[in-house]
Amino acid sequence: MEEIRREKGTHILVIPYPVQGHINPMLQFSKRLASKNRRLIRITLLATESISNIQDSSSSSSDHISNVHIHNLPDPPKELHEKFGNIDAYLHHLKAAVSHSLPDIIHKNRDETEVVIYDSILTWALDVAREFDLQAAPFFTQSCSNLAIYYHLYQATISIPLLEPAVSLPSLPRFQINDMPSFISVPGSYPDILKTIFDGFPHFHQVKWIFCNTFDMLEEEVVSWAASQWPVKNIGPTIPSMYLDKRLQDDKDYGLSLFKPEAETCRKWLDSKDDKSVVYVAFGSLAALGEDQMEAIARGLKRSNRHFLWVVRETELKKLPSNFMEGTVEKGLVVTWSHQLEVLAHKAVGCFVTHCSWNSTTEALSLGVPMVAIPQWSDQPTNAKFVMDVWRVGLRAKVDQRGLITSEEIELCIREVMEGERGLEIKRNSEKWKQLAKAAVDEGGSSDKNIEDFVADLVCS
Ligand code: UDP
Repeated sequence: MEEIRREKGTHILVIPYPVQGHINPMLQFSKRLASKNRRLIRITLLATESISNIQDSSSSSSDHISNVHIHNLPDPPKELHEKFGNIDAYLHHLKAAVSHSLPDIIHKNRDETEVVIYDSILTWALDVAREFDLQAAPFFTQSCSNLAIYYHLYQATISIPLLEPAVSLPSLPRFQINDMPSFISVPGSYPDILKTIFDGFPHFHQVKWIFCNTFDMLEEEVVSWAASQWPVKNIGPTIPSMYLDKRLQDDKDYGLSLFKPEAETCRKWLDSKDDKSVVYVAFGSLAALGEDQMEAIARGLKRSNRHFLWVVRETELKKLPSNFMEGTVEKGLVVTWSHQLEVLAHKAVGCFVTHCSWNSTTEALSLGVPMVAIPQWSDQPTNAKFVMDVWRVGLRAKVDQRGLITSEEIELCIREVMEGERGLEIKRNSEKWKQLAKAAVDEGGSSDKNIEDFVADLVCS
């Protein structure tokens, strides 16, 4: 029986929430899975049409993407495409599209389909998988600490509004209110998202695997706590192999970029700069900073007197102070999207001013780049807390009474990270975490072992 199964192999369906920060880790995990057993493991990643179509043919990792078959889902109507604002309607659309597609995909591979790996916020995917008699496993795209915090709120260990100025939770550092995920520290913000996260928790006791994009040592205590609750497997950091263990040749980028990177422009510009002299500034694919904040950052960069490379998405460009570009040609380069991994890995980059979303945070950690954290929403404040106080690989910029980070504060943080006494410790720690991240995914590392075990479980069961 086992032999027959081995011959037929295993088909894994991967369903990310279709935004950049969720596609990247789930696609990368897919590539790792496919690499473990090319003969027996096949992967299909479900992505909306406009995403599939932008697969970058010049991508050096297209070979690895081709081990991951991309299945098109119809795009949602335009009005639903706005950030996370209309999440209920968006999820509803996605559920209908996935349910509609599954019979076809499964029918084609009836004998080998085994398991669905779904973004943990797509909670309906477990029911859909069961309808088709498939096993399913949620994938949590944020840190294990955030997973634990949401669970404590769900269990009513903490309540909103938070009544205490500081919060102690099992296996986690003591948090001030502004270290908590924004859905908790700002009551009433995005209740639909919080509900969606909560809806996933009952599943955690019904599945055989839960994947989390972290690695054991990164969040040691809370990882042990989570393992005492659920069958969690940490499989991160989900960074293309050539930036870590280099075992998947040519796996140099994620492969599905929703924005067009100005890679060559960045590369040339960085090549002309001294080692560790450049401040890289980027706030990911979703954050929309206010004009005041953009102006303060612009002035802070100017004051720091450092070279800087700033990603300002097309839609945000109008918020830059007038004449900013003209006035800073000597010192700065503004692009609308970068190949972020390539930038972070460039020897000229010495500091990353980041919103601390989970992918950007783990990318900076994995590439050993010290951070200045300017968190905006969601899990970012909690990640910033870890960056500054737990891993000690950066500083969190302080907000003033208006909730703004002043240009003076930005200058101070950049100077401290790049030149100051504290900067020396930050650089040492950044180097340490870089090595530990690589070790986790390298042969025999904790994440590698978890991926191997999962694959063995599938192909031998
Ligand atoms: N990214 C990129 N170029 C940019 C900015 C971001 O390639 O100019 C990538 C980055 O490497 C990361 C992803 O986009 O993998 C953003 O995910 P993250 O979780 O950091 O932020 P989000 O967009 O979800 O807020």
